Amino acid sequence: CGIIGILGSTDAAPRIMTGLKRLEYRGYDSAGIATIAAGKLDRRRAPGKLSNLETTLSTSPLSGNAGIGHTRWATHGTPNETNAHPHATHRVAVVHNGIIENYAELRQELEDKGVVFESVTDAEVCPQLITYYLENENCTPKEAFHKAIERMRGAFAFAALFSGEDDLMICGRKGSPLAIGCGDGEMYLGSDAYSLAPFTNRIVYLEEGDWAVITRSTLEIFDEAGNKVSRPVSISSASQ
Ligand code: GLU
Repeated sequence: CGIIGILGSTDAAPRIMTGLKRLEYRGYDSAGIATIAAGKLDRRRAPGKLSNLETTLSTSPLSGNAGIGHTRWATHGTPNETNAHPHATHRVAVVHNGIIENYAELRQELEDKGVVFESVTDAEVCPQLITYYLENENCTPKEAFHKAIERMRGAFAFAALFSGEDDLMICGRKGSPLAIGCGDGEMYLGSDAYSLAPFTNRIVYLEEGDWAVITRSTLEIFDEAGNKVSRPVSISSASQ
């Protein structure tokens, strides 16, 4: 029910946890974090309270200065570790808020092509679709992400990290909220400005259907049709 993402210059997992705690008020039943270090994605997930995820991380820490985090309010699949986000393949890790209405047909289409799913969530079709486009249609991460969100109907906010890409985060929204935070040599994304207030007060709100390609030094926003657009930076008064 909440999303945080950081392309930072210090250890990302504890900062993502700070952001996730600020999203607890939205309600959740499980949580997870993925980070990237030296091109390699890794993740930890836990059902229940964020304190369970903190316990998991204390015995099995995640390294890396970039990462994405999620609090889940299960709509498809019980709240266990396997169904918790981030959902991942060897190419991409994705967090999702909302509901993918046509997930069953997308899943069937991919399974018919030999793709093996790990969870029973609607959300997992997103990383599986992206991976399919990366591997079978030679897409770049940006092309694969756009193709994937074009296929999905419903309400969503997504954020994705790609293996081999330590300075890249791609996100998009339709029906669910998502804001981008601009720092100094760092970039963030979150479900609301409050969750980003510990990091920055410079916020760019994505409009309906927008998606964005983010690096530590660049932000490119596109509309649903794929046209490059510009959205204003607002100064948030959310309390730190
Ligand atoms: N529909 C997704 C799931 O059940 C995401 C739920 C959410 O918004 O947290 O995994």
